[in-house]
This record gives sequence, structure tokens and C-alpha cells, in this order.
Amino acid sequence: MTGIRVRFAPSPTGELHVGGVRTALFNWFFTRNHGGKMILRIDDTDRQRSSPEYLESILTSLKWLELDWDEGPEVGGKYGPYFQSERLNIYNDEAQKLIDSKKAYYCFCTPEELQAEREINLRKGQPPRYSGKCRQLSPQEIKDKKAHKNFVIRLLSPETGQTVVEDIIRGTVVFENNIFDDFIIIKSDGLPTYNFASVVDDFYMKISHVIRAEEHLSNTPRQQIIAEQLGYKLPSYAHVPMILAPDHSKLSKRHGATSVQEYKEMGVLPEALINYLALLGWSPGDDRELMSINEMTDLFSLDKVSKNPAIYDLKKLIWLNGNYLRTMKLDVIVQKALPFFKNSDELSDVVHSYQEDDFKKILEKVIDLVRDRVKTLRELVEASGYFFRNDFTYDEKGVKKHFGKKNAGEILAKVYRTLKDVEPYQPEQIKNALGELSQTLNLSMGRINLPTRLAVTGRTMGPDLFEVITFLGREKTLERIKKAKELFTSS
Ligand code: GLU
Repeated sequence: MTGIRVRFAPSPTGELHVGGVRTALFNWFFTRNHGGKMILRIDDTDRQRSSPEYLESILTSLKWLELDWDEGPEVGGKYGPYFQSERLNIYNDEAQKLIDSKKAYYCFCTPEELQAEREINLRKGQPPRYSGKCRQLSPQEIKDKKAHKNFVIRLLSPETGQTVVEDIIRGTVVFENNIFDDFIIIKSDGLPTYNFASVVDDFYMKISHVIRAEEHLSNTPRQQIIAEQLGYKLPSYAHVPMILAPDHSKLSKRHGATSVQEYKEMGVLPEALINYLALLGWSPGDDRELMSINEMTDLFSLDKVSKNPAIYDLKKLIWLNGNYLRTMKLDVIVQKALPFFKNSDELSDVVHSYQEDDFKKILEKVIDLVRDRVKTLRELVEASGYFFRNDFTYDEKGVKKHFGKKNAGEILAKVYRTLKDVEPYQPEQIKNALGELSQTLNLSMGRINLPTRLAVTGRTMGPDLFEVITFLGREKTLERIKKAKELFTSS
């Protein structure tokens, strides 16, 4: 396919959420797979609800995900401007063309008149359609009314027949034209409606494929009618399935984090989020799940996108994230984790007490030890505290269980002596020395290792104990064992 041009058209009226990213992603896969262009258009005609902060946040989220665009904000392009708010003259010109060719007309009906019409229709058991009464106004009447009345511009819409949407994902979808009345294309404030602006832009931006959320499918026949009246060639359409919450209701805030920003703050990796969202409604045709963005781009095709709604499963996203954390290159994870350490209440002062490069070297070792056990970058920080600080808290249950035993103090004292003498101070030797101690005392390894771990980390579980002890170094380890013995044991 040549000349592929797709657009992602967010409205800057909120953060970029998972549904939006998934739409952006399918557009991106499709166009990158076909060597086409990705256009980012900002649908900001709703002046009241749009804000520069949301725009900024959407752009930041897309950049974080590395979903780049070839034309749009910050990069320009020859079919701009790419902000609808800067294209109002284009919509007005197109509306004027429709007026001139009698395919659209001014409507001066007041909200009260329209309401009265609606009630009459309802009483007759008819759908609440606009009667089209302003179609008949003479040029003089229009001129007079325009001088002192508000007006909208309505499109003359077909009353009979059908409008057929050929959707790449959903197949042929037929709409009866009698459900449409003469709908508004320019509102009384002079701004275009979404349907009108969208069609005009898709045409002038030479969009070949409109790939968007299923909730817009009901707008598509109206957009086709507008395009026909304007004599535009239609783009191809693909409506991607809805994303539902696990309880099959519409995914919303109450189901937890839904915006990219929130995931970023939770320590989800962009690679994992992309991988997860790609699988919401699409699969490469086998049960592969872990795929790089390049692999997915190569494998992507719209005909493998499902018609059925996709169910959002946060647990699976987090599971996938854990996989990425374990398997990505260590230096990459260090780089991504660094801001989380810098911003953590617990560790930021520690981080800042080092030169950044020195800290990164230490962090590399810590991450290597703990990353198998965590699923997000945030958890990585939480799991790393005791590597850097002596003032950690001790797991309460663990304290009762392991330090409460009558010979706990004696065991800690022996561990202390063993670790004081072991040479070289390395995992293998430490392991052997503690092993010998367990034999000498005729105690299981657990009776030695569990209180030792609790004393040096405050926790009952964690990475390889001998590695941890080696990382901490003799001095710190001994200090911690002594402290725990004094705090919790009497012997
Ligand atoms: N601004 C619209 C939205 O965010 C775009 C819909 C479309 O792609 O046409 O839903």
C-alpha cells in the first residue's frame, strides 16, 4: 500500500489514558509497518475544556512511549496547521461552499422551539428529529434574521436510503438514513462540530485510514454524509474494539490507574505498557505475549484486530512489567530506575551523597540482586532501602518468630563471630562458613540464615543472603547483627 497516512487526534481535555494510547499505537503500528506517515492532530475546538497543560501532558506521554509522529505539533508539516483551533477559517470556507451549493442551510430555531418540536415528535411516538423547517427560508428572511438572531449551520441530510460503512475490522455496517436529521456542522458560537471538523481535516490532511475507537462508529455515517456532500473521497475506516474493565463495565478511574502518567509514576516501563496494550484486541495469531515494539510492528495487521471488546487486566500488565524488569539490559534499567531513587523520600539523600556515576555502579549491583523479586520500578526502590540505610524497620512477625526463640541471641553472636573471621569475605566462603556453623550447632540452615537475614535486612525474604551480606561488607553486616542482638534478644 502506498500513500498511507493515519492520524491520532486527541482532544486536550484530559490526560492520555490507556484507550487513547491503544488507538495511537494501532495507528502507529499500521503506518510504520506500511512505511506511511503518522499525523498528530489536536482536536481542540472545545475551548472550555481544552488546556495547554493537558496538551503538554499528552505530548510528554507519547514521547515517553516513543510513539513518534511525522507531522503535527512541534514537528510541523505541509498539511498544517495541526491544531483545529487554528483551522477555523477552513471549516467556515467549507461550510460556506455547502451553503452556496444548497447542501447546508442556516437554522435560526431557538432551543425552546427545538424542545417543543421534540416533545411533539415524542408524543406522536416518533424519534426526536429536527423538522428541517429552516430549509425553506428565503434569502431575504435569512438576511433579516442573521442581523439579530443566533444561528447554526445544518447539513441537508438524506431522509431515505442507507449509509453503509465498510469497516476494516467490523465489516459492513449499515445505517438507515431516517435516523439522521439535518445535523449541525457549525454551532452558534461559530465553531465546527466534531464530525464536521474531523471530516474536513481528514480530507485536507490526506488521511488514508481513520483508525479510531469503536465509540466513534456511530459518528462515521454522519461523517460519510458530510464527505459526500463536500465531494470528498472517503478514507478507509477501522474501529478498534472497546476496552472494558474486568467486570465488563466501561473502564474508568474507579478501576485504578488509567492514564499514562499514572503508570509512569508507578514505575511501569513504556516497553511493557506498549506490549500490554498492543495485546488488547490484537494478537499476532499465536499465543506469543512478550514482544518488542519492532516485532509487533512487523506482525501487526488490522485484519487480526478483534471485533470483541478487550478486557483490561492490571495484574497482567504488572506481570509483564516484571518480565521486562528482569530481562532488559541492566544499564537500561539503572537509567530508568535512577529518577525513582532520586525522588524517593527514603533514599534521595543517600543518592545525592554520591557522585552520579558512582551511585549508578552501586545501583547496578543492587538492581541485579533485587530485580527478580519486584514488578515495578517503584517496588525496586522499596526493595532496595536496606542496601543503603542502616535505619530500616524490622518485620514484626519475623522478629517474633526468629528473635523470640530462647537461643536467638546466642545464634546471632555465633554468626557474628563467624562473619568476623571468614576469609575472603565472599558469597561462597560465607555460605560455607555459615553451613559449618549450622553443623556445629546441630541446627538447620534456616535456624541460622533466617535470623541473620532479619538482622541485616529487616526482612524475612529477599535475594540470595550471601550475596547481600557480601554487598554490604563486613563492617556494616557486623554492625547490623550486633544492633539486632542488642535490640531484640536477651541472651
Ligand atoms: N478527538 C476525538 C477523540 O479524542 C477524535 C476521534 C477521531 O479519531 O475521529 O475522540
